[in-house]
Amino acid sequence: MFNLPSPIQKINHPLFDKVGVEFFIKRDDLIHSDISGNKWRKLKFNIEKFKANKYDGILTFGGAFSNHIAATAAAGKMLNIKTIGIIRGEELSYQSNETLQKAHYNGMNLVFVSRSKYAERYERLYHEELRAKYGNFLIINEGGANYHGVLGCTEILKEIEFTPDYIYSASGTGTTVAGLLLSSIQTKIVSVPVFKNGGFIKDDIISLLKQFMLDSVTLEQKVERLSLNLNHHFGGYGKFNQELIDFINSFYEQTQIKLDQIYTAKMMFTLINDLKEKKFKKGDVIVALHTGGLQGLTSIKNKLVF
Ligand SMILES: *Cc1c(COP(=O)(O)O)cnc(C)c1O
Repeated sequence: MFNLPSPIQKINHPLFDKVGVEFFIKRDDLIHSDISGNKWRKLKFNIEKFKANKYDGILTFGGAFSNHIAATAAAGKMLNIKTIGIIRGEELSYQSNETLQKAHYNGMNLVFVSRSKYAERYERLYHEELRAKYGNFLIINEGGANYHGVLGCTEILKEIEFTPDYIYSASGTGTTVAGLLLSSIQTKIVSVPVFKNGGFIKDDIISLLKQFMLDSVTLEQKVERLSLNLNHHFGGYGKFNQELIDFINSFYEQTQIKLDQIYTAKMMFTLINDLKEKKFKKGDVIVALHTGGLQGLTSIKNKLVF
């Protein structure tokens, strides 16, 4: 059902060969066709929690283009779990939005709430209100950003049989990066937030790590291995330009690997830029985490060579 452990692929790319670094891509995009990339990692232990208790279903939150909403709906369909998605903003016709259309088709009950109501998504009182209305649902944070989500992402590095010097990941909530930090002791973790002014994500990552009761020295050592690269968000979440499209096309021509314009292309663009800026030394082993998201390419398919 799931292609796990996900494959890790060595990439021969002229730029990397020239510098003398080894380059791998961890192909979490190949885990499942509908439950994209890191979204399954973040759901896995949440679903185990669901199964271990007598919940009526799973309820979670997201915007109209959320990969997490799509993944939760698909997992619900596959595992016969009722799902509710609390969606930020005005009700859209499902036809105009592929993510919601698919989630609806997968049986998710989509509930549209105003932005001000959505802002209450972390509040206990709102959760109580939701449970009173819909039943005893397991409530999962937006983006799967909780303890069990981080736990699922600790399995990524455990599947790799060597110790990379660097691992790069695109970040939305920072959950994936928190899991990478938690499960490593030497590897430098580079987070590429995919929106403007993404520096706040560092605090979010630290908050997620704190749930694991690390002593202060360990926590500090982990945070020291984290760096954020904020230079290549291309204007913000969901934004892109011709340069990024050209990059996606040329990366595909060189490697036959597809990247999406919302997350993974920005991460890979950053990695290659760091390479050009001589951030790495000869012999370094670098892993790029392909977190999936390829369904997002449908909106730009007429611009792509594949
Ligand atoms: C959701 C998503 C991310 C962000 O992961 P976080 O754990 O929220 O930081 C990265 N890449 C892709 C393709 C995603 O769908």
